[in-house]
This record gives sequence, structure tokens and C-alpha cells, in this order.
Amino acid sequence: MYLKLHSDYEGDALAHEAAAIIKSCVHCGFCNATCPTYQEFFDERDGPRGRIYLVKHMLESGQAGDATRMHLDRCLTCRACETTCPSGVRYGRLADIGREIIEEKTQRPVIERLQRLFARKVFPHPGRVRMLLRLGRLVQWFLPSQLRRQIPPKQKLSAPAGKQSSSQRKMIVLKGCVQAEATPRTNDAARRVLQRLGIDLLEAASAGCCGALSYHLAARDEGLDFMRRNIDAWWPLVEAGAEAIVSTASACGVMISDYGEQLKDDPAYSTKARRVSELAKDLTEVLEAEDLSVFRNSTGKQATAVHCPCTLSHGQKRDGSLERVLERSGIPLVESAEKHLCCGSAGTYSLLQPAISQRLLDRKLAALSAGKPEQIVTANIGCQLHLGSRSDVPVKHWIELLDNPN
Ligand code: SF4
Ligand code: SF4
Repeated sequence: MYLKLHSDYEGDALAHEAAAIIKSCVHCGFCNATCPTYQEFFDERDGPRGRIYLVKHMLESGQAGDATRMHLDRCLTCRACETTCPSGVRYGRLADIGREIIEEKTQRPVIERLQRLFARKVFPHPGRVRMLLRLGRLVQWFLPSQLRRQIPPKQKLSAPAGKQSSSQRKMIVLKGCVQAEATPRTNDAARRVLQRLGIDLLEAASAGCCGALSYHLAARDEGLDFMRRNIDAWWPLVEAGAEAIVSTASACGVMISDYGEQLKDDPAYSTKARRVSELAKDLTEVLEAEDLSVFRNSTGKQATAVHCPCTLSHGQKRDGSLERVLERSGIPLVESAEKHLCCGSAGTYSLLQPAISQRLLDRKLAALSAGKPEQIVTANIGCQLHLGSRSDVPVKHWIELLDNPN
């Protein structure tokens, strides 16, 4: 695809990167077939190819309008289009750059700016999330039902957090932000499960949000600061020989794998960031390399439907890994349709685009329920809470099924 940058962007490295991505698109349109928003609207501008053209027009004309921003906002950044694309177009990166440029070029309505500011100032901070959850649980019966369903029930930890063993194998676990408060059982279960495999999970107290939330809301500098903070927190453990940095939320894993790229021009952090990215592993990746026969007799036998998050299947290119780990652990799985489609959670998407998000949620729950599961599992906190807000059966993080605290 031919593209000539507008003079405003001639010295702009991000615009040049976007132009290179756009040029790799051969506008075949295969990607529309797996794009959730194109499948909802059947409008070219709500599919990847159309959005690529919108960003192209912005870079060529030097102008950006509210319509372009709206169609980019509607994109879930699920990256299903990347999996489908035969030309290897890095659409997700292009969408992030397009959003960053358009945020500078256009003025959002006040309500949208406040929503985004709220998301950025609350969700990456566990203490604020804790306060919000406490407040929400206190007043939940006075809230409209749709809002009430978004508040997760308080999780009881089934046993005290596991003590460190004398294992030689050490891995760092990302503490995270929302997950640490909303579903603390996830990391607790991961710690016990890995201990059974002879691996100690270490947590750096001063690490936290991976930076993805700010980064995807076009607040890149804020996201980079979270990344640097985490690198500083993890580095002593990396130097002490930790063999991996494990994410129990697949969206965070995608971000950490990208630290090296994001900080490549920062002389103080580029080398460390690259090393951190090399060490990043999703929890499924850690378990896939282990002998899981120890779990076969201790896992429950409930029929289980699997929702593989987009960040695991398209972001980390680990489609099928979650199912393989569960099957090897003896958990009976039921089939579901439309596995490639996003559930509509997509970070802050459910907050900022509630109508589309709910439509996608209905569609995803119908697909997951077709095999009449007794429970649904997933690998990302956002998907877990979003599916759980409307599901008739329990929605869990998959590692809970391998956990046998007693
Ligand atoms: S499938 Fe790839 S090459 Fe074809 S239109 Fe979509 S992004 Fe472009
Ligand atoms: S990232 Fe997802 S929603 Fe966005 S264009 Fe690609 S397939 Fe569509």
C-alpha cells in the first residue's frame, strides 16, 4: 500500500513506524472475517482494513476527526485480525500509534475525558481498587443491577499463602493491580500449584500494574513509568537467578513481553527491559513444560468450558495452551464455538464502550454455554470478571482447578 506522510509527520518516529506497518497491508480484507466489531456492525470502518485506511488518511492529510477516533475507540485491540492476516500486519501496534496521534489532534467530550482519567487514576493502583471494591460492596443493593453485577464477590483464601520451600527453582510472579484485589485467589493458587512442582514464586513488594492500562489509553509516558518501576523492583530477583517472570493474567504478560521494545530508546533501561521481556512467561507456558500427572487425581471432574483470552491466543500466540494444560491435568473440557471472538472485556473497553461490550458478552456466553458446562475458566482477570458478571455458572481462573489446598 502506497503512503506519503504529511509534512507534519516527517520527523515523527511513531508516524514512520505506523507508515511501515500500513505499507505491509495488501488490503485483502481477510481480517474482517474474524474481527468482532466488523461482525457486529458490518461497516468497513469497524474492521481492521478500514481502520488501517483511516489511520493512513490521518497520516497523509495531517487531519483527524471525531469519526476516525470513534472507529478506533470501537476497536477492542483483541488482535484477532493479526492471527488471520496472511501478510503479518502488526495491526495492534498501529492501533496504539493511531490512538496516540489522534489523542493529540482531537478534543474528547468532557465525560469521555473524565472516564479515561478515572480508569487511569484508579485501576492501576491496588489501594484505590480496594477502596472502590469496599465502597461498591457496601452500596451494591442501591445500585442498578447492571452496575451491581460488575462488583466481584469478596474471595476467601482457602489456606494461608504458601511458605517458601527450599526449592532451587525460583520465578517472579507479577503482583498486578486489579487482580491483586478483586481475585487474590489466583496468585495464591498459582503459588501452591507451582510449589507442588518444586518452584517458588517470588513477589516484589514494590512492583504492581504492568503499565498496559495507561499505554492502551494513549498515556504512553505514564505506562512507561509503571514499566520502569517494575523493572527496578524485579531486577534484584533477576540478578539472584529467577528463571522467569510469570503472569497469571495474560494481558499483563503481553505487556511485559513488550517492555524491551517499549524501552529500547531509554539508555538507562533498555538492556534490563530486554532481559525482563526474555524472562516473561504466561502461567500456561510454565505449566506446559512440567509433568502434570501429579494433578490428575486431585482436580475436580466438573465439565469445564474454556475461554482463551485474546491476549493469550492472539497477543501471546499461545492458542490451545490453556486447553492442553487442563487436559493433561485430567479436567474434562466441553467444546464451545467462536473461540476466536473476544468476550468484550478488553481492558477498559467494557467501561468505555458498554453497549458493544455487552453485545459481545452475550454472544460469547451463548457460545461457551452451548456444551452445558458446569463452570467456565479463563486466564485473564478482565475476562473473568466480565464473563462472571452475567454467567449462570461460576467463572474461575483456570489455576484454581489445579489447586488442592487441603
Ligand atoms: S488481512 Fe492483513 S493484509 Fe489483508 S487487509 Fe487485513 S491487515 Fe491488510
Ligand atoms: S484488534 Fe480486534 S476489534 Fe480491533 S480491528 Fe483487529 S480484530 Fe477488529
